[in-house]
Amino acid sequence: MTFEELKEKDSKYICNTYGRYPLAIARGEGCRLYDLDGREYIDLLAGIAVVNLGHGNPALLETINTQYKKLVHVSNLFYQEEGPTLAEKLTATCGADKVFFCNSGAEANEAAIKLARRYMRTVAKRDAYEIITLEGSFHGRTMATMTATGQAHFSKHFQPLPGGFTSVPFGDLKAMAEAIGPQTAGVLIEVIQGEGGIRPLSEEYLLGLEKLCVERDVLFMIDEVQTGMCRTGKFWAHQEFGLAPDIFTTAKPLANGLPMGAMFATVEAAQGFEPGTHATTFGAGALTAAVASKVVDIMLEDDLAGRAAEVGDYAQSLFRAVQNKHPEKIAEVRGRGLMLAIELSCDGADIWKALIGKGFILNLTQGNVLRMLPPLVIEKADMEHFARTLEEILAG
Ligand SMILES: *Cc1c(COP(=O)(O)O)cnc(C)c1O
Repeated sequence: MTFEELKEKDSKYICNTYGRYPLAIARGEGCRLYDLDGREYIDLLAGIAVVNLGHGNPALLETINTQYKKLVHVSNLFYQEEGPTLAEKLTATCGADKVFFCNSGAEANEAAIKLARRYMRTVAKRDAYEIITLEGSFHGRTMATMTATGQAHFSKHFQPLPGGFTSVPFGDLKAMAEAIGPQTAGVLIEVIQGEGGIRPLSEEYLLGLEKLCVERDVLFMIDEVQTGMCRTGKFWAHQEFGLAPDIFTTAKPLANGLPMGAMFATVEAAQGFEPGTHATTFGAGALTAAVASKVVDIMLEDDLAGRAAEVGDYAQSLFRAVQNKHPEKIAEVRGRGLMLAIELSCDGADIWKALIGKGFILNLTQGNVLRMLPPLVIEKADMEHFARTLEEILAG
């Protein structure tokens, strides 16, 4: 199929929800992607923080093969070992006690919202339902998570929106303190806003927010759908500051490209759910759970958190050197681990397109932020190649 034929078929049969870049990816291997003509690209996006172990990882292929022959899906009506085995491994990486498995980030956040409300009604015995989020956040595209998302353009023309959501200015603890009331069930934040342009909350804010949640007796909830699983240099981004959320979520990196989400809760918060109160057909199917288990094993064995920290720091030093040569073009270099951003002082579309033209897959958010979420197995040499190319483009 030629690119033009593919484009025509896509627009004929696929709902028109994506503004796609004019490039078709045919296959991937490690940190490389190849287009329909076999042209090679360095992948600095990992399918938006998803394919963290790289494309076509041979150990995962073996797991998929073995598990597929053994068992793929039986439903949650029966016990099966793959889910609890994965949950045991995941809870060993953090302070959470229990996991609810689902299929996406939005669903994981839906579970968190439902658990927060039900915990308040049935355990805390308070009629508290409201979830407070931050402006600029992104929590998903379902009706509830889109409403929770603190960017109004996502929910435009979808009214009426579900009630019980409010968002307050980013990084403003006073605004948060004022918003929390008897109706508040919990606060939901990203440690580093991803879609919002790789915007980190300060340590002071995060510690202050946790304290505030404890004092006001509301649930402290963290969305780690993008930041989770070694991306930021710790297994979980909230561990950088020793935070202890009541509930947190992940999804993107969990099964390295197979759809899977998870909501984590302390044993206290988890009391909000009882049999029959929440469910999903595909949650922790044997195949996805086995793959995710292998992902966790590899991340721990290969210390991918440490690797993300090291390669990410190195990449930032390279980007800062480019910034020093072109201070009028790069406003800021920021990020943590391999969650990286270069904020340009001008509209970024031309520079982003030129980078793709030179063989680099990355994303542009908020119009002027080059966002990089490479596979955690990316080589330093690839980041050097990228920095050199960016400098050439900025000079040209
Ligand atoms: C991508 C993302 C989501 C939504 O995840 P889906 O799997 O697309 O539903 C939620 N929160 C954050 C922080 C994300 O980056």
